[in-house]
Amino acid sequence: MPAHLLSVDSLCRDDVDHLIRIAERMEPIAQRRKVTRVLEGAVLGNLFFEASTRTRISFNAAFCRLGGSVCDTTGFTFSSMAKGESLYDTSRVMGGYVDAIVMRHPEQGSVAEFAEATQVPVINGGDGPGEHPSQALLDVYTITKEFARLGKPLAGAHLLLTGDLKYGRTVHSLIKLLSLYEPLRITLVSPPGLEMPPHLVDLVASRGHRIETRPNLAESFDDVDVIYATRIQRERFTAEMSESFAELTSDFVVDRDFLDRRCSPTTLVMHPLPRDSRPGANDLSTDLNGDPRLAIFRQTDNGIPMRMAIFAHLLQVEDLIEKDLRDVGWFVPPSFGVDDASF
Ligand code: ASP
Repeated sequence: MPAHLLSVDSLCRDDVDHLIRIAERMEPIAQRRKVTRVLEGAVLGNLFFEASTRTRISFNAAFCRLGGSVCDTTGFTFSSMAKGESLYDTSRVMGGYVDAIVMRHPEQGSVAEFAEATQVPVINGGDGPGEHPSQALLDVYTITKEFARLGKPLAGAHLLLTGDLKYGRTVHSLIKLLSLYEPLRITLVSPPGLEMPPHLVDLVASRGHRIETRPNLAESFDDVDVIYATRIQRERFTAEMSESFAELTSDFVVDRDFLDRRCSPTTLVMHPLPRDSRPGANDLSTDLNGDPRLAIFRQTDNGIPMRMAIFAHLLQVEDLIEKDLRDVGWFVPPSFGVDDASF
């Protein structure tokens, strides 16, 4: 695995398996049973030039749970980029201050350009409609954990990716990572104009997977194992596009009725979040809250061990973890949500 994590293109199947194994070893720390200080003294620079809750906080929390500390900046307004500073200069400056950098930026390719000026590990926290490699890693980690729990093999599984497959960077990274696995069946369902980029469809097909598109969700998907729903990325739309998509997207809503009538009782529902929960938003419905098929909060929880694994690997402390564990001394609730499934 290279020094930076900019795109899943740099990962082979062994790298993914290795990161999953480290994430498993991080679980006692992520679940707040154990404490480690392997990154004591290390500092993370968290640079977020686009909106974020999960990615920013979970990278931050993951670094802190390894014993490190975090410096962060959010938005262009409060950074020197607002004064015209280049990615190159910002990168070199940050490299002198911190030991690892996570960056999110609205332009595709910007994080890779930033990484060219520093030898400090840089992680792409989302570059416009480009990629979101750590999200794809935690998604694959979630899928493997859920399949193990259900006693199902991943080989031959059927995944349905729906929503904004054109601008949704999480599905771009995810489909590439999935293509490293044993042959899968992948069905793509998106509003017209928001389809998966053809080069990604071709890549997946060329690696021996069965990949199909369907026009909408109005048919039976009872052999689908995982539905991966995504938010319509309106922030990437022009004004005209926003108007034309307003009506269309209601046909792509995943809700309890769709799951009960068209899917199987074991179909899992994932989403990178945030989902738009405002009335009329046409995103993954809140009527599935509390339903054990809804894996979205297990998925967000998995972000901590996977992001810890990425840091431990890039900063080369993965072999020190077990030598450094202590028991947690503070109160930890038996589950983190009020209606979490018991598994
Ligand atoms: N949080 C994810 C991302 O940053 C998904 C989304 O925003 O819809 O790409």
